[in-house]
Amino acid sequence: MSLSFDDPVLVPVLTEAPPAPTPGARRRHGMILLVDMDAFFASVEQAQHPHLRGVPVIVCGDPDRRGVVTAASYEARPFGVRAGMPLQEARRLCPRAEYVEGNPEKYVSTSVHLLDLYTRFTPDVEPFSVDEAFLGFPLRVDSLERGAEIARQIQSEIADRFRLGASIGVGPNKLVAKMAAGVQKPRGLTALDEAGFCDVFWPREVHELWGVGPKLAERMRALGIVTVGDLAHAPAPALGAAFGIIGPQLREAAWGRDETPLVPCYEGVDPKSMGHEVTLPEDSDDSEHLEATLLRLCDQVGRRLRKEGFVGRVVAVRLRDATFTTRIRQRALHRYTQQGHRIFEVARGLFRENWNGAGLRLVGVTVSALQPEPEGEQIDLFSTCERSEELNHALDRVRDRLGEVSVVPAATLRQRRHRSHVPFGVISSRTRVPAD
Ligand SMILES: [Mg+2]
Repeated sequence: MSLSFDDPVLVPVLTEAPPAPTPGARRRHGMILLVDMDAFFASVEQAQHPHLRGVPVIVCGDPDRRGVVTAASYEARPFGVRAGMPLQEARRLCPRAEYVEGNPEKYVSTSVHLLDLYTRFTPDVEPFSVDEAFLGFPLRVDSLERGAEIARQIQSEIADRFRLGASIGVGPNKLVAKMAAGVQKPRGLTALDEAGFCDVFWPREVHELWGVGPKLAERMRALGIVTVGDLAHAPAPALGAAFGIIGPQLREAAWGRDETPLVPCYEGVDPKSMGHEVTLPEDSDDSEHLEATLLRLCDQVGRRLRKEGFVGRVVAVRLRDATFTTRIRQRALHRYTQQGHRIFEVARGLFRENWNGAGLRLVGVTVSALQPEPEGEQIDLFSTCERSEELNHALDRVRDRLGEVSVVPAATLRQRRHRSHVPFGVISSRTRVPAD
């Protein structure tokens, strides 16, 4: 199981509209809770190892190697230690902390047990990340007081059964619940309705609004939108002109309004994205090697989209360098695709625009904004690509029979000839490819 430790910020895709709420959709939930575990990885370590309790704990990769802080316990935070900080700096700030090598499998397993606990309160549980989940309660649970009462019970059960702390946000929708959860930490409980949301968040800077990344916030500041309140009062047409379809939607969010449905796990996972990534055995700054790796990943993603019957419209590349800094850049396509070569065209463009030449340790490609593949009669939407689709399906059948390595994109072959290759996993030698 792979789990990424960092929490990168996605660059917003301004041409891509968030899914519109289904017209006439009936509201299903009275109150929504967002349960956010406090300093999750560090707290799990403290819960399992009594000698770590009450002392600064810093969870990292291999403590003997250079790397970054994955999680810091609340005892470490007054020293200024934060997740994402280089380990060297953390050691300088807090030399007496306990440095613990992280164990992603353990955290995921705890996370699964927590989800199980939540389902005792409501069947409508939507995991949001390894340490966060949305819980939806039926319409009869329609007051903040009732929501807060349930939240307190959940907090006390988490404390009793797991020795862990959680901060919970309660609200009428996912946006308010999510943002309320961040108001008070650790072991916080914040319940807000839409009016309360405006009171708390309007004075705050616009980048604090869920969905507004640093880049978008910068563009808003250039338009004079500094606070969430400014955004709430910005004229919708101007926002539309500046930010496209998401402009007016962000304005709604600034009022605490959000109609995004909570999708319980039992409704089956409609994957929101599909991706592949590979950790290179050694950091590579060889652009040809990196692009060939990218091509292979795009091919795999395209294949998986076809196999699972999806088309997607947003391509993201993930580049992680030796300092574990991860850049994610994404771009929307004009039309949906499930073809590796289309994905690669965009991924390569993003790579060329954003790679700074530093040695990379990980490369990944993800396609999101997925939709089920159109049925047979609609395939003419894709007619210009039909031949290549047929070819792809034929290749998929070959690979299903003969395995992944039987067919690979031609451009990866040259790389493969020059490297001892582990089948579709990692490339095991750093030898530079001589120019042909
Ligand atoms: Mg957390």
